[in-house]
Amino acid sequence: MASQISHIVYADKYLNKKNSSKINRNNFILGTVFPDIRRMAKGMSRRDTHSSFNVINLNFNDLTSFKAGWKFHLYCDIKREEILRKYNFYSLEGTTDFACAPSKLLEDKIIYEQYGNDWGELVYFFRNPSEIKLEIKISYDMYKLWYAVLADYINRKPDENSMQAFLLNLPSIADKADDIIKVTGDLEKNQKAVNILKEVAQKII
Ligand SMILES: [Zn+2]
Repeated sequence: MASQISHIVYADKYLNKKNSSKINRNNFILGTVFPDIRRMAKGMSRRDTHSSFNVINLNFNDLTSFKAGWKFHLYCDIKREEILRKYNFYSLEGTTDFACAPSKLLEDKIIYEQYGNDWGELVYFFRNPSEIKLEIKISYDMYKLWYAVLADYINRKPDENSMQAFLLNLPSIADKADDIIKVTGDLEKNQKAVNILKEVAQKII
């Protein structure tokens, strides 16, 4: 659902470390926030976008930059859970509410400033995304809409208004937006939770 900003920050950290000339940075980032399009596209399941590779690792040989970013998303999903479980994050109050949406929104807010590049450039790119040949059944209109919604969301450090606007675009949880934002606010006051989420960004890559 959320965590879109976090996924971008993780990708940025990875690309800075790796410094591969074979990877097109923008398309990698496009790919890394692609899998959760399922939250917006009706009739899609998690499996449709989260089971596309036999082995999940950081081997991106023979993949397009977009597909590499996609695979990187799945890698981060797994690593993130490992780290959170190690610190018993889910024993803290509110962390599992609404399928963990508040934890993800809070993480986005906490690490927004860790992006090493200009968010504005990425916003522009998301409003004019590369035309990628997608291997799953999804319309190009939906593809463009997803990135347009993300462009608005990443445009500034998440606050109640931008979170609300983002959640309202996700059919499965739109009606719970107010409650999700309230729990996110409560969670932000829990220093232990905040510290663990900061750890994720440090340790994931
Ligand atoms: Zn995911």
